[in-house]
Amino acid sequence: MKLALASSSASVEEAPKQPAIQVSNLSIVFDTNRGQNIAVDRVSFDVAPGEFVCIVGPSGCGKSTVLNTIAGLEVPFEGDILVEGAPVYSPRPEVGMVFQQPHLFPWKSVRKNIAHGPRMLGKSRAEAKAIADNLIAMVGLTRFADAYPNTLSGGMQQRVAIARALANQPRVLLMDEPFGALDAQTRAVMQDNLLALRDRIKATIVFVTHDIDEAIVLADRVLIMSAGPGRILREVAVKLPRPRSSSVMLEPAYLALKKDCLDVIRAEGLRAFNQSDAS
Ligand code: ADP
Ligand code: MG
Repeated sequence: MKLALASSSASVEEAPKQPAIQVSNLSIVFDTNRGQNIAVDRVSFDVAPGEFVCIVGPSGCGKSTVLNTIAGLEVPFEGDILVEGAPVYSPRPEVGMVFQQPHLFPWKSVRKNIAHGPRMLGKSRAEAKAIADNLIAMVGLTRFADAYPNTLSGGMQQRVAIARALANQPRVLLMDEPFGALDAQTRAVMQDNLLALRDRIKATIVFVTHDIDEAIVLADRVLIMSAGPGRILREVAVKLPRPRSSSVMLEPAYLALKKDCLDVIRAEGLRAFNQSDAS
């Protein structure tokens, strides 16, 4: 570091930052009773610190498998995954995860669901409560801090799940179709909420969805995956200005990006269709 400072300030700024996530040549194969199923086929991508990357692709293409491997819930068959330069062997508190279903503790209040992680990491009751209350305010649920999950709507439960994932102050947040079970209106509100939250937390986010609109609205970069075995077909940089909201969908620049993405998806759909026709 001293050496870099001794040269010039310009060279310090130009020094390449270590990616937050590096996925290199990742393949995942599952043994099934019909033989081996290649779920993910030589997938490589980097995610820069603070970047918001969306992975989009059809159901069954391996999106969850890629995310689970970054989380340390799945083991690579081939290839490597580094998070902040270190290989991933198991789940860690620096990496938070949000799933399609909120999976809250039904017997705990909203506040206690969110305080659970910090308590497990050794924070005092008062510290954990302060962390939880701050996050509850951030996701707009202050009035519901003492409510139990089964009294909340699906969207509110998912906001609790996001707050709970953020409670351990993860530097990387992995989100697996977190709004997939919500109606279209709630979904748009949740997307706006996440965009606002993201500007405050500065975490690196990898967000999986099969909804191309959701991907473009949220992301700095969209990775489009093929039908299984999952490969990355195309990376699309989303240079729409931030702060952003879901109303960006009405902008011409948005529509041009969506057309690029749809062209890739349509060509791949046709290829998969013709292949299944031939077999
Ligand atoms: P996506 O999230 O894109 O819908 P998944 O990652 O869940 O796709 O699945 C990719 C492929 O891997 C699918 O063919 C699925 O059936 C298979 N798969 C996922 N998990 C397992 C598992 N634990 N055992 C066997 N096959 C699996
Ligand atoms: Mg999935």
